Amino acid sequence: MNVAIIGGGPAGLMAAEILANAGASVIVYDRKPSLGRKFLMAGRGGLNLTHSEPIDKFLPRYGTAQKFLTPILHGFSPEKLRAWCEELGQETFVGSSGRVFPKAMKASPLLRAWLNRLDQAGVQFKLQRTWKGFTEDGDIIFDTQNGMVKTAKPDAVLLALGGASWPSLGSDGAWTKFVDAPINDIKPSNCGFVCRWSDYMKKYAGTPLKNISVAHKGQTVAGEAIIAENGMEGGAIYALSASIRENLPSTVDIDLRPNMSVEDLLKKMNMPRGRQSFSTFLQKALGLSPVAITLLREADKNIQDLPHEKLATLIKSVPLRFTAPFSIERAISSAGGIDLDAIDHNFMIKNLPSVFAAGEMLDWEAPTGGYLLQACFATGVAAANGIMNYLKTA
Ligand SMILES: Cc1cc2nc3c(=O)[nH]c(=O)nc-3n(C[C@H](O)[C@H](O)[C@H](O)COP(=O)(O)OP(=O)(O)OC[C@H]3O[C@@H](n4cnc5c(N)ncnc54)[C@H](O)[C@@H]3O)c2cc1C
Repeated sequence: MNVAIIGGGPAGLMAAEILANAGASVIVYDRKPSLGRKFLMAGRGGLNLTHSEPIDKFLPRYGTAQKFLTPILHGFSPEKLRAWCEELGQETFVGSSGRVFPKAMKASPLLRAWLNRLDQAGVQFKLQRTWKGFTEDGDIIFDTQNGMVKTAKPDAVLLALGGASWPSLGSDGAWTKFVDAPINDIKPSNCGFVCRWSDYMKKYAGTPLKNISVAHKGQTVAGEAIIAENGMEGGAIYALSASIRENLPSTVDIDLRPNMSVEDLLKKMNMPRGRQSFSTFLQKALGLSPVAITLLREADKNIQDLPHEKLATLIKSVPLRFTAPFSIERAISSAGGIDLDAIDHNFMIKNLPSVFAAGEMLDWEAPTGGYLLQACFATGVAAANGIMNYLKTA
């Protein structure tokens, strides 16, 4: 049983492990000189592997892909992912938000231990090979440092080429040209959005707006956003990015004091201001940061002249008009990819016998919070099981 896995990220490596343990001869190909580059990048700000919330809350995070992914996520659940990580010597813990991290926080110790274990299981790695499709006979075409080479058709091929965000890490979505299957447009997900700022606001680029909530089309997300030079990004915006992206141009409403009602704000506003400037008063009485006050001024230049009721209402709902997503190069992940209806129960691409797909290249999306890696690992497991099933019956 010879299996070629093209793409050495979380999905491809997980499939490699299962197939090698089942006795397959596995070669992992990747275009980069080293494996798991996006996985390593994911660990830079703390590797959020999965989430600890109950499964009935967890599954709906996958939106329209929930139905497709439910059996796969039951097959390789968040608990199983944690146990797998711990087997590799990396203890995990649940953070205050319910997110799960390895104790080391970084991805590098986990990846190192994993690659060692794969090596011991007999998995071979062939790097600096960029996949360029198949010949008519099903041989695999790679672009290498020595030009184009062909590799004889194996029993099965798993494509695990990732999405298209952060292309410098290896996944650039160029595979769409070579996969003969229904593919939905690849778009940025978990991304920021462009809006128009005054020069004054631009000076706050990089500054977080903390403890806010953002509302869009009936969904409200509490958290943090970050001012960018040409728009806004950060966790609360990412969580709404699928809905914002599909409705552009679109307005979100930012609540700068989600824990206070309009009445609470009015009470504080009615306190004597004394000799404080208006800004200082807003900072001290209402706990608004300078960047929050500037955001209010973006909505209404003359906030100091507004009746208190109007100002309190504005603080609870600052409208912000987004016109476009930030470029996919800056997005955490991508949406779109191989249509889920183009995949059979074994994760084989229906149009391409003996060719399978897993990970972010399939058309599902999810917010940050560990849901992305969890689904990449779980689809890697499902595709490996599907390959074994297919090869048994082929
Ligand atoms: C900054 C950042 C932070 C993130 N943080 C988190 C987080 O904390 N938690 C979380 O759940 N998710 C996080 N993610 C998302 C997560 O890393 C990805 O969803 C996940 O890595 C996708 O796994 P994958 O195996 O499908 O693809 P990838 O990890 O993208 O791997 C695909 C592999 O295929 C190779 N490849 C691509 N094209 C070719 C080709 N033509 N020929 C040969 N090889 C090719 C690439 O080099 C790459 O090694 C983060 C992403 C980013 C960018």
